[in-house]
Amino acid sequence: MSLTFNLLNRTDAGGRRAELVLPHRTVQTPVFMPVGTAGTVKAVPQDVLESLGAEIILGNTYHLYLRPGHEAINRMGGLHKFISWPRAMLTDSGGFQVFSLSALRKVTDEGVRFRSHLDGSSHFFTPEHSMDVQIALGADIAMAFDECTEYPAERGRAEESLRLTMAWARRSLDHFRAHQHEVPWLRPNQENGVPQVPLLGPGNGNPTQSLFGIVQGGMFRDLRRQSAERLVEMDFDGYAIGGLSVGEPRDLTMEMIAEVLPLLPADKPRYVMGVGYPDEIEQYARMGVDMMDCVLPTRAARHGLLFTSEGRLNIKGKKYAEDQGPPDPACSCTVCRRYSRAYLRHLMHAGEALSATLNSIHNLAYYLGIMERVRASLHAQAE
Ligand SMILES: [Zn+2]
Repeated sequence: MSLTFNLLNRTDAGGRRAELVLPHRTVQTPVFMPVGTAGTVKAVPQDVLESLGAEIILGNTYHLYLRPGHEAINRMGGLHKFISWPRAMLTDSGGFQVFSLSALRKVTDEGVRFRSHLDGSSHFFTPEHSMDVQIALGADIAMAFDECTEYPAERGRAEESLRLTMAWARRSLDHFRAHQHEVPWLRPNQENGVPQVPLLGPGNGNPTQSLFGIVQGGMFRDLRRQSAERLVEMDFDGYAIGGLSVGEPRDLTMEMIAEVLPLLPADKPRYVMGVGYPDEIEQYARMGVDMMDCVLPTRAARHGLLFTSEGRLNIKGKKYAEDQGPPDPACSCTVCRRYSRAYLRHLMHAGEALSATLNSIHNLAYYLGIMERVRASLHAQAE
């Protein structure tokens, strides 16, 4: 038993309000997922993420595989237990970081050889190995191993990249189906013989990990269609649209999403990877995207960029030096209720560690707040 996706209602524009039942949490969708790269959403403690209402966060397979290592995390009971996060998690396949961070990579049909960005050591990732690592980490959702097509890419290059991604999707799925019950949290407790954590989910048996396929195809509509149709035939538990927000103009991102969404099964979750700005996540959610993730709110926060109801605010600005107002007058997050723009500016200038924490908490509250409002609005429109 993998995930269950309960569609509550849908609007004429295609927006969907649903419940995604995962082993560790029933997630209200559309949902924004904060990115917890190396087992942490940078600068934000887990209890704060909970109080912000984050129901599902990401872990990056590439980072966790290199340090502290998936086998060590598995021996300690899996990623949920290791980082003390009882709610839902998703791990990416490691592919994106292999292609964006590592040096000297060599791609063959078999897999990718690459050197660690940490110590230069040599590693080989195949679709099967990515599945083994993700099963060992034990997130609620794992992702098929893919090659993220760069932008811009000529048609020939996009075709070749898609061929590889489709072959790797098949191998990912076959290997995953054979081993998906080996997740650490289904291992019986040695003392009482029951699984380590109380698990949610309907039906009989213990719900286990799910696997999503990833639609690629560059910026070519027919390749995107082909990719979606072939993945749907393979029958994944959910579907992601990858290779977007890689430098292309925003209308092209929209066009690719609009092309793919109608081809995906209505009764399974749809995830657009790595997007986006506040107005984008709202727009895509209203089109029928159920899940999104992005480093933007936390990364921008560490650079002093706050997203507010009045637009983007660069807290480093001199004009905030004695500004006693809250970062965002319309925001009710713990940071906006307590601290002034002048104080946040001071922390940033002084290089204080608290700066990243407070800025990140506000930005995450802002992103999660957008999705909460979109869910309420989708609910109201459908009635
Ligand atoms: Zn705030």
